[in-house]
Amino acid sequence: MNQKEVIVIGAGAAGMMAAITAAREGAKVTLIEKMEKAGRKIRITGKGRCNITNTKSWQEFSTHLHPNSRFLKHAFYSFDNTETVKFFEEIGLKTVIERGDRVFPLSGNASDVVDSLVNEINNQGIRVLYNTKVEDINLNDGSINSITVASNGKRSKMTADAYIIASGGLSYPLTGSTGDGYIFAEKCGHKITECFPSLTALMPFGYSNELIGLQLKNCEITLVAGKDIVQKEMGDLDFTNNGIEGSIGYKISRKAVKTIIAGGRCSVSIDLKPAIDIETLHKRVEKEISELKGPFTSLLLQKLLPSQAIRPFMEMNNLSSDINKTLRSIGISGLAETLKNWKMDINSYTSYERAVITAGGVSLDEIISKNMKSRLVQNLWFAGEIIDLDGDTGGYNLQIAFSTGFLAGRSAAVDNKTK
Ligand SMILES: Cc1cc2nc3c(=O)[nH]c(=O)nc-3n(C[C@H](O)[C@H](O)[C@H](O)COP(=O)(O)OP(=O)(O)OC[C@H]3O[C@@H](n4cnc5c(N)ncnc54)[C@H](O)[C@@H]3O)c2cc1C
Repeated sequence: MNQKEVIVIGAGAAGMMAAITAAREGAKVTLIEKMEKAGRKIRITGKGRCNITNTKSWQEFSTHLHPNSRFLKHAFYSFDNTETVKFFEEIGLKTVIERGDRVFPLSGNASDVVDSLVNEINNQGIRVLYNTKVEDINLNDGSINSITVASNGKRSKMTADAYIIASGGLSYPLTGSTGDGYIFAEKCGHKITECFPSLTALMPFGYSNELIGLQLKNCEITLVAGKDIVQKEMGDLDFTNNGIEGSIGYKISRKAVKTIIAGGRCSVSIDLKPAIDIETLHKRVEKEISELKGPFTSLLLQKLLPSQAIRPFMEMNNLSSDINKTLRSIGISGLAETLKNWKMDINSYTSYERAVITAGGVSLDEIISKNMKSRLVQNLWFAGEIIDLDGDTGGYNLQIAFSTGFLAGRSAAVDNKTK
């Protein structure tokens, strides 16, 4: 039997996994990357530490996937989070599990993840073309007959038996992810579900710059779209120069951005004291007021809030610096209520330049979930973020890339309808 030739477009997490798997299955693989090196995005993941995956069982893992977790089920069971850890350990990367079941390289260095993948790519004899951009996909009679590539100012055509598009989404375009694959997929007749930035910062109206740098641990955030409560999350929030970030800020950003794009309004309400009910908090505020050493609202808030939050909290909630005026205007119940319900209307969000992922992408209806193969073009597969599938923060997105990359690589290498 002739050796199957596979071209993989994009040397990100999904493309590298697809290339390695196809080569291990015996295919002759060419991996094409437009940047000067592989895995530029992986190098900045997890704040430079790369949260490779998450060890949760499928039952829990799947609750962190959007918009349709069922699509990943087969890929996950073919190459799950345990397989991911095993794979990396086998190619020489030691890993460690941290809080929230998140897996990181033991070295704490995301570049080690890329290096281990590139080593394995070399071990498998995969041909890698860097600084080579796929510019076009050429179709004939329901299949791809060549791709047009540009390198060093020269254009040429390349052919293979099978093609895997793993060119990522639109987020952090400086890493090479500029949405080229959506154009190729559309040319192949695929529907692209509307893309939007997700896991991104939300900027409230009247945001106080004094909040920048504040981290709130174990608070609760509620997202209200229009008049409806649409999501509640408990965990950590970061306030940055882009607005509200951190794990739970990112978690609510998917629905918030979608609402804003659809022309709706949304707001968040932060419960700074989620562990105590309103009656208990009321009593606590009352007690702190009775023990106050001066007539200032800030003195009371010092007992209840991190110091950096005090001035912005007062400013954004129009609280007087005089405790007596504050009590006259909203009373103890009003103060307790504001601590449990710090409301901020959302004005805008950070777009692709700094969004962690792109939601939306190649429609799930037209990809076979059992092997990541196109239902429309007989020698085409998809892997990674280009697919209309995304996850929360916590290692879910890289696992999507590894599971879909594995399945696409294996299927493209062994599919007998492509030769
Ligand atoms: C700041 C940040 C932190 C993150 N942290 C985490 C984390 O800790 N854990 C986690 O699970 N997820 C994390 N993610 C998300 C995760 O990194 C991505 O979902 C994942 O890397 C997507 O992999 P991919 O291979 O599908 O796409 P990409 O990584 O985007 O790779 C696509 C590749 O294709 C190449 N390409 C594009 N077009 C062409 C073309 N025309 N020709 C040739 N090559 C092309 C690009 O240059 C790129 O190298 C993070 C993302 C960001 C931005």
